[in-house]
Amino acid sequence: MTPELMAAENISFSYETSRVLKDLSVSIQKQDFIGMIGPNGSGKSTLIKILGGILKADSGLIQFKGTPLSKINKKLFAQSVSWIPQDHPMVFPFKVSEIVMMGRHPYLSPLSFGSEEDFDITRCAMETTMTYQFADRYFNEISGGEKQRVMIASAMAQNPELMLLDEPTSALDLKYQVQILNILKYLNTNHNMTLVMAMHDLNLASQFCNRLILLSEGGIVRDGTPEKVLEKDILEQVYGIDIDLSIRDGHIMVHPVIRN
Ligand code: ADP
Ligand code: MG
Repeated sequence: MTPELMAAENISFSYETSRVLKDLSVSIQKQDFIGMIGPNGSGKSTLIKILGGILKADSGLIQFKGTPLSKINKKLFAQSVSWIPQDHPMVFPFKVSEIVMMGRHPYLSPLSFGSEEDFDITRCAMETTMTYQFADRYFNEISGGEKQRVMIASAMAQNPELMLLDEPTSALDLKYQVQILNILKYLNTNHNMTLVMAMHDLNLASQFCNRLILLSEGGIVRDGTPEKVLEKDILEQVYGIDIDLSIRDGHIMVHPVIRN
């Protein structure tokens, strides 16, 4: 059996008065590539933030490698788990290479500018994500797809065991969506990275992920292989539209039925 990396048990969370996550439990195994799917507002971003320690659950227990988040060494957690938010507001004009180097932050000692090893790791992350060629450009002045690759490079430089990504492909055209997913697949396969990624495109999720978690109204309604999760009845219920399914190259494809 694959070892468990992270476990959330009976998690609940509210923003002020509205309860957004309701007694939710999930276990993430090492080297999972999880697509977290579900309608807008179903709680994907909130759950990802809770797993990443950005938000704290109101109740329930979250453990990373068997240690509750409340007891885990902060520096170790920062080295082990990275979170890539959906938007990257960048107020200050940082260069691409500087942003990737920020991924090394959990490893740097105070006042250190980074060792040769840090620079080597940063360079490798930029090469893997095809961002090295514009390392000296300013983050504000590159395209959406390039920005997303830079954020992944920065997360990769952190060398985490678990990468949490919030809709990494949502603002990108089809070519760049596939490019990002191929990079993530490479990290999953070749760097043993465990990935949890919120996304809307069910067909890409079906093709790239080994496991899907379907959220609806703050709860998990299905969790398993794409074949198990992408079922007509449950998708119609959760998304509130008619759906047809097909199979292509062994993967389930989801088609909304358009009625005129
Ligand atoms: P998803 O990522 O699946 O679209 P979210 O986790 O962003 O869902 O949101 C879940 C619910 O929580 C939604 O009803 C949303 O309006 C609400 N919500 C999200 N962020 C906040 C916030 N900062 N303050 C209040 N409500 C929020
Ligand atoms: Mg979201």
